[in-house]
Amino acid sequence: MHSAVLPVYARQDLTFVRGKGTTLYDADGRAYLDFLAGIAVVGLGHCHPAPLAAATAQLDRLWHVSNLYWTEPMVELAERLSARAGGARAFFCNSGAEAVEAGLKYARKATGKPSVVALSGSFHGRTLGALSVTGQPGKREAFEPLLPHVQFAEPNEIGSLEAAVSPETGCILLEPIQGEGGVHVLEASFVAAARSLADETGAVLLFDEVQTGVGRTGAFFAHEHVGVRPDALMLAKGLANGLPIGCLLVLDDAPEGFAAGDHASTFGGNPVACAAANAVCGELPDELLAAVTANGLALADGLAALPGIRAVRGAGLMLGAQLDRPAADVVALCAERGLLVGTAGADVLRLTPPLIVTTAEIEQAVGVLEEVLA
Ligand SMILES: *Cc1c(COP(=O)(O)O)cnc(C)c1O
Repeated sequence: MHSAVLPVYARQDLTFVRGKGTTLYDADGRAYLDFLAGIAVVGLGHCHPAPLAAATAQLDRLWHVSNLYWTEPMVELAERLSARAGGARAFFCNSGAEAVEAGLKYARKATGKPSVVALSGSFHGRTLGALSVTGQPGKREAFEPLLPHVQFAEPNEIGSLEAAVSPETGCILLEPIQGEGGVHVLEASFVAAARSLADETGAVLLFDEVQTGVGRTGAFFAHEHVGVRPDALMLAKGLANGLPIGCLLVLDDAPEGFAAGDHASTFGGNPVACAAANAVCGELPDELLAAVTANGLALADGLAALPGIRAVRGAGLMLGAQLDRPAADVVALCAERGLLVGTAGADVLRLTPPLIVTTAEIEQAVGVLEEVLA
């Protein structure tokens, strides 16, 4: 363990030095099958040639100019994401939490109303604003008081949402699939109810797609599965295949919010990160999204048949397996056998392999889990 590093993470004592596709290598040259992908980040796999070439070429050309000027990769990425969203405008930052902060500020500016309704069990990041709308007491308690005017409704309970939303509500915030909070899928009827309530009260409907976005669930945006358009959404994790980036997308029919001077980020829209993100967007054709859906179903089926797994939740390659034992123990035993998986809460195993994972690799991972859970 390394005493020069602040102990905010319960890290596994593994040091990785190299990665290729779905495989990571530690300092001793040992190979690991990576079914976490840096927590749903490295969607195209480690060192994928397309973002690698794009980022490398950009590193040779231009690193940074600030947002006092345009750069080509940033404008191209905004145009690509706008087209994907059916018309939108982008603000770029450097992480998921920053994207959430931008979304909260946008909603407040657009509505003039500070109240936010978020969901129990949600996760929106660790900065004070994002933590204020994160519905997990254990992550919040040591840092209270947080932002006022935040209420939490129960996921998939329309009555609870109706009770929480009022004419004072400026923002309804939800993850189409709760990730960190245990991989819980929101029902289409619940998301539609959130849309209606936002329309009735003049609130902004904000989707946190930091984890679900960029193909992770088998659609470019997870909200495509439920057919409900938000006013704005946040992306980050998978967008640049591992380079730091975050994005707030405000859809074209959403209320006006930001004007010059309202928000900023020195590094936001960094040309290298945006070049990588453009390459990622170019590598997500419909065939790959269909494969994500098919492979996700195969992985879910494989998991559901294993001992010790009580339920499998999620969509595409964002899966959570509800266990009958502590997830951290299973994660450690898998790592000993060369398989990397994660947790989403105390007894949920999280599987978010690269989107390019093969059927053979899925069988291999299920085989390791079968041994560990037996
Ligand atoms: C990971 C995550 C965040 C926070 O992203 P960071 O880059 O860690 O700040 C926010 N929302 C969701 C849904 C996430 O999964």
